[in-house]
Amino acid sequence: MPLITPNLAKLISLKERRALVTGAASGIGEATAYRLAEAGASLELVDIDMDGLRLVGDKISKTGVEVNLYKADLSRKDEIDALWDSLRGREPDILINNAGVYFFKDFLELDEDSLDKAISVNLYSAIWMCHHMIKRRLNKGGVIVNVSSIEAILPFASELAHYSISKIGVIALTRTLAREYGRRGFRINAVVPGGIETPGVKKLMMRTVLRFDLERVRLGAMFKSRLPLGRFGKPDEVARAILFLASDLSSYVNGAILPVDGGFLSA
Ligand code: NAD
Repeated sequence: MPLITPNLAKLISLKERRALVTGAASGIGEATAYRLAEAGASLELVDIDMDGLRLVGDKISKTGVEVNLYKADLSRKDEIDALWDSLRGREPDILINNAGVYFFKDFLELDEDSLDKAISVNLYSAIWMCHHMIKRRLNKGGVIVNVSSIEAILPFASELAHYSISKIGVIALTRTLAREYGRRGFRINAVVPGGIETPGVKKLMMRTVLRFDLERVRLGAMFKSRLPLGRFGKPDEVARAILFLASDLSSYVNGAILPVDGGFLSA
């Protein structure tokens, strides 16, 4: 006889649910796809990198979970519209807006293309994905988890103004929609990762070292020394927080902005 119902296994289970994860070919999105699959969700995985997405999809389909792959450049609204057209009859009840780009650019050298890229991939894609999801499920509700960044709250690395701006927009989007659509059965939250060792971050670090950018190497060391847990995080450690927000474990959590940063923002 369970001490309390529903029991934990039921609360974390995503059986009979369908989850769409953007940016699922790498890093946090890939790890999230694995955890959501483990919890029993059917998956719709989206990325601009189809080769990477196929590798992830192959691993998941071997576990017997239904997984569909979709190539889209999420910086383009027409491609997002086409994606949702193709989802008719297979609508997700869980949406994870994770796809993102981060690159250094001195604010005074910022051009329209760079700003456009950061804002369109990181922010506009999340806006239009939420737009479709809420419109499609207005009378059914659903769960959305958006992925922001510590840089939105505490700009630490230099030359990331374009990125910080896009990610603070993701927080505003999360809070606004959580307020407006809670009564319609939606729970909308955000995770705020920081210091996660993903392929994207490793590429950025490698470029910094190859360019002998000593100032940035120094900043990287300072960042690590400020981390209360004293280490970088793993993609799966963010995925587990996303699973919590996606499942009924967090049934009364709405409009929350959850740092997954080893304590960086509090130190
Ligand atoms: P990553 O580079 O390893 O993975 C990002 C994925 O997004 C890739 O598969 C890439 O192909 C996809 N993508 C990029 N542009 C796309 C587009 N136009 N259309 C569709 N897919 C596209 O990155 P990550 O570190 O796993 O980051 C995931 C998210 O977490 C991003 O939004 C990032 O800003 C955020 N984040 C990461 C960290 C960190 O420390 N790694 C910190 C804060 C926030």
